[in-house]
Amino acid sequence: MTIMKHYDEWEPIIGLEIHAQLNTKTKLFSADRNRFGDDPNTNISPLSVGLPGALPVVNKEAVRKAVQFGLAIGGKVQTWSRFDRKSYFYPDCPRNYQITQLDYPIVRGGSVTALVEGEEKTFAINRVQLEDDAGMLKHFSQFAGVDFNRAGVPLIEIVSEPCMYSAKEASSFAESCLAILDYLDASECNMEEGTMRMDVNVSVRKKGERGLRNRIEIKNMNSFSNLEMAINHEIERQIRLYEENASSPFQEVIKQSTYRWDMETRRTVLMRSKEFAEDYRYFPDPDLLPLMLKQEDIENERGRLPELPLQKERRYAKELGLSTLQSYFLTIDKKRSHYFEEALAQEHSLAKPIANWMSVEFEGRLKEKGLPMTDSGILPEHIRELVLLIQNGTITGKIAKAVADDMVMNPGKSPSKIVEENPSYRPFQDVAQLKTFVKEVVQSNRQSVLDFKTGRDKAFAYLVGQVMKATKGSAPPSLVNEFLKEEIEKFV
Ligand code: MN
Repeated sequence: MTIMKHYDEWEPIIGLEIHAQLNTKTKLFSADRNRFGDDPNTNISPLSVGLPGALPVVNKEAVRKAVQFGLAIGGKVQTWSRFDRKSYFYPDCPRNYQITQLDYPIVRGGSVTALVEGEEKTFAINRVQLEDDAGMLKHFSQFAGVDFNRAGVPLIEIVSEPCMYSAKEASSFAESCLAILDYLDASECNMEEGTMRMDVNVSVRKKGERGLRNRIEIKNMNSFSNLEMAINHEIERQIRLYEENASSPFQEVIKQSTYRWDMETRRTVLMRSKEFAEDYRYFPDPDLLPLMLKQEDIENERGRLPELPLQKERRYAKELGLSTLQSYFLTIDKKRSHYFEEALAQEHSLAKPIANWMSVEFEGRLKEKGLPMTDSGILPEHIRELVLLIQNGTITGKIAKAVADDMVMNPGKSPSKIVEENPSYRPFQDVAQLKTFVKEVVQSNRQSVLDFKTGRDKAFAYLVGQVMKATKGSAPPSLVNEFLKEEIEKFV
């Protein structure tokens, strides 16, 4: 991505609206099953297809999950909130309105802390609301169909303040929201299945300028990488337009409107000039009573909150001595943190090497396969075993890397078995041969030996490296050190 010439003079301002499906058993206002992947139009009733006279009843479990999320972000859970109808006409919306919350959302305020390129940043939340999802259009070669299985599935919409200043901040914020939902077991958090969709508002202004210029909303992104690309593209587009039309009033250069991100062309594409709230003819849903919660029940939920990602991250850093980045890597994904804890099996002294093997060695190897470690088939106890094999001197660090390659190829096979089956992985045990190698290395690297004798420690590391090379990395380092020192002593 090319960086604009005058980019430094500009400041982007970004706000996010995140829609996440709640993983309740049934839909938000009916007893229809909330389940992804079933045959089209099998999880429906008169409510899901909006037949006249069908009366909605709010799902307590969905409310409970929204309350928990509100508490988790330190928001103010409202004891009185209300549902409104938002009218729009589209084939995926059988009632011609969505049930949502406009003036009285269930949660106000709160904040989410995320790690942005190694630095902790806190982002303010404006509100969290409950609403129902629409059905899905499916396009075939000759016609389109509608699947109403998704119609009525509960969503929580998390609306941030316009408080982010880069694409990276926005994606880190979204990732942390997802992690909180995951820890609360409130959502399946499966991006591929569309359980989380993000709308982003982007505007730019000259640095030091007050107030906000018109914003562009980009709809429905379902991956963090698309989100970042769309934001960066939009920032550049707006700066370019303002610079090309420097003499026009801002309001005429960028008009408030809605765009979508086109993956093919990697551009934001205009969908419609922005509709305003009045276009939706919001009004309180007359079929639903206000949602009233007892303070006591809210406090009860607070008591049931699990350890949250940020708390766990800080605990890992403190108890296990891991770096912030490493703790973040392990805790931002609930499954990954469970995996790590299984590998660790309470032995704190192993935390650093296990975290390192997970975050660097295996993460790198599995990236090529596009597999998360937790779905790779490699067992957590095998990571632990690999670390122990190195620690007790059975294999060297170098051999361990080859063993790790094999573990990726044959998930489920233990590292001990891999070492046992492959003679070249076994440590170099021929002491006489090793001594010969050491002698040869010392003889043919006289300068390095002299350097070491005059105090250059680096030279010793070089000699160790030469011996390791001769043994194809299989000699126990402790033996190599010992023999080398002996040999150097003799050297005149
Ligand atoms: Mn919404």
